[in-house]
Amino acid sequence: MSETLYRKHRPQFFKEIIGQEHIKITLQSEIESDKTAHAYLFSGPRGIGKTTMARIFAKSINCKNKKDKTFEPCNECQSCVSITEGNNLDLIEIDAASNRGINEIRELRERIKYAPSNSKYKVFIIDEVHMLTIEAFNALLKTLEEPPQHAVFILATTELHKLPVTIISRCERFDFKVVDIEKLRAHLKNICIKEKIKVSDNVIEKIARYSQGYVRDSLSMLGQVLALAEKNEVDDDSASLVMPKSDFQLIVDLIDNIISEKFDFAIRNLSILVTDGINLRYFTEELINYLRKVLLVKISGASEKYFFDIEKDIEEKIIVQAGKLDLETWHGILKEFYDVFEYLDNDGFKQLPLEMAVISIKNKFFDENNNQGNDDSPPTIKNDSNIQKEDQDSVKKNDKSPHFKKSGGDKIVNKKAKTTVTKDIDVSVEDVIKIWPQLLINLKDYNHSLSAFVKVGHPLQIKGNRLNLGFKFQFHLDRILQDESKRIVEDILESLLNAQLIIGCELDSNYEKNHEKMVSSLYKEKGENDSVIDNLIQNFGGEVVS
Ligand SMILES: [Zn+2]
Repeated sequence: MSETLYRKHRPQFFKEIIGQEHIKITLQSEIESDKTAHAYLFSGPRGIGKTTMARIFAKSINCKNKKDKTFEPCNECQSCVSITEGNNLDLIEIDAASNRGINEIRELRERIKYAPSNSKYKVFIIDEVHMLTIEAFNALLKTLEEPPQHAVFILATTELHKLPVTIISRCERFDFKVVDIEKLRAHLKNICIKEKIKVSDNVIEKIARYSQGYVRDSLSMLGQVLALAEKNEVDDDSASLVMPKSDFQLIVDLIDNIISEKFDFAIRNLSILVTDGINLRYFTEELINYLRKVLLVKISGASEKYFFDIEKDIEEKIIVQAGKLDLETWHGILKEFYDVFEYLDNDGFKQLPLEMAVISIKNKFFDENNNQGNDDSPPTIKNDSNIQKEDQDSVKKNDKSPHFKKSGGDKIVNKKAKTTVTKDIDVSVEDVIKIWPQLLINLKDYNHSLSAFVKVGHPLQIKGNRLNLGFKFQFHLDRILQDESKRIVEDILESLLNAQLIIGCELDSNYEKNHEKMVSSLYKEKGENDSVIDNLIQNFGGEVVS
């Protein structure tokens, strides 16, 4: 059925060819003005209509009914019909893949000498011309240099770079491109109408996308779908039986590996794509579509409308993965893959653009340790101003840049020498509020005024291993991030929570409300350590620290 469909709907007029506008216009105008060349070279990928174009061209220049200043063949005269039927004596088609030698070309040169039997031109279409041997090329070249008036050559190749320059320079050259998805979709829809079989737009869209603008592939796939028709209709479920599966599991694995910073595995996932012959552009489209869903979940929560086109287990996976990184990081990851999409056109690069995206993601969003650097010394209080300066700088850098964006629950690697073990951070803002009074008490032991400064702040949120504190005034915030203050607060937090948190500070536009909220939740906690909390609550709130 598939090949039948391709043959059945093979264009017979220039106007029926989809895409290749630039080539059609030039050829048509040459035919109209009767200024055709003796040698053409059609290059471009397989299955996008090179030989179809060549045959229509041959028909047109030999058509018995064609009027002056027109370009379309009639498709009715004896010449046109015999070309359509494949038995025209003046159209010689040679497949160079199976006729590559000098003898075939010698034979061809003999045949050229004779005038066309019943046409104006003798047309030679040599497909896959790059397959010819050197000797055959040389023989061909001699013919191309001095062709008889009645001869027209159309050489077709999928591998232009394998052709000798001497051959290329003898020809009028046309580069065929894959067909635009929009046009292909319209073409497929049109064929369904002609076949009188109903197929949903969704299926047609998928076929057009999967075949990536290769007309023959798309018709082959459509042929398989149409073969399933019952009562002139193919429903989506039936169609899905023959449609290629999008490899969502591979996407899930790739994203899992990125989240858990196993970038070597992520790169391996990508090489599987190539070894399994998975269409890279299609895969990447699906990947971008997947990441878009992750972003939507992140922005507005899981909603059925995002998941209409995927299976339940993948939907659940998206929701889980969405929770593991923050919005900014997901946006960054999506952008990296989106940015390399256009480079996937180049067959020679294979999966390289995707690998570059993965490495870029690693460098931009996960290499926190590289940026923190230098902090291999024990986290005890020190007066080494250089180290403190570096530490402070790294804090400032972190405030601006999107490093280390885990939303919690995942492994955090911290280079602090005291505890070089990898720990799971499983601490919530509520946990921090619970130990807040004790934090202030312990801080007092180190530094009385620092405790007072921290007291006017409150925990806002935890992102990954980063605890953000909210403050009303900039000078409070500056004081916390100064000198060893930050390190002290972090160390005490670690001793109380058994988790390594990094302190970040920000001005809280909702300061009053949030601070009151924390104080009232401390009242609720009251009872566990009444005297401490009573003591602290007394001093909470409006106290101004100067
Ligand atoms: Zn005709």
